[in-house]
Amino acid sequence: MVNEIKVKSILNKRRDDWFLDDYSINPYEGCSFNCIYCYIRGSKYGENMTKTLSAKVNSPELLEKQLQRRARKGEFGIIALSTSTEPYMQIEEKLGLTRKLLEVILRYKFPVHVLTKSKLVLRDLDLLKEIDENATLPVDLRSKLKHGAIISFSISTLDEKLAKILEPGAPPPKERLKTMEKCKEEGFLTGVCYIPVLPFISDTDYGSLPFSFPAETF
Ligand code: SF4
Repeated sequence: MVNEIKVKSILNKRRDDWFLDDYSINPYEGCSFNCIYCYIRGSKYGENMTKTLSAKVNSPELLEKQLQRRARKGEFGIIALSTSTEPYMQIEEKLGLTRKLLEVILRYKFPVHVLTKSKLVLRDLDLLKEIDENATLPVDLRSKLKHGAIISFSISTLDEKLAKILEPGAPPPKERLKTMEKCKEEGFLTGVCYIPVLPFISDTDYGSLPFSFPAETF
């Protein structure tokens, strides 16, 4: 079940040197991957982001207007998709909201940085390929970057058991690596966002610790 909501704005202006983006778009509110480390849990969306999951159903038409204005002024910049939700969670398969947003992004020739944990991104490689080849990069990145589309895979651990605890609704990390490999084969600029690094949990070989965690730790 997902709530359908209408929002007043969809394109957020921001400059993030980590992800190179100037804008961000979140087609959904909440997230069914429900990672226990997600910073959104501390926000108004609360502890269970699956329960508060909502689709911003008017986001493609809003983006059309907002990108048209920005493109007219030449304000091109990388759009992060997404920063406070997962653009390719299970419901996207049915709603295709992220795909509709990519169609608008392609129309106005904006570059995009997709941040995901899901193999569903493979469905949209056709659009992402066109964005990759046709996007107008921001002036400060033109001499450094040769791609209009970047696809990053968020991975915090490769331990499947631990991943099930940390990211209960997300696809297995090894599936993400396979998807990344496919994107690489298709010629995309792709890689891993190794975040968050969890002290003593995902940065440490358990066998090397001088103590063991009690079973109830997790
Ligand atoms: S996939 Fe991303 S947005 Fe969704 S719960 Fe996990 S960290 Fe948060």
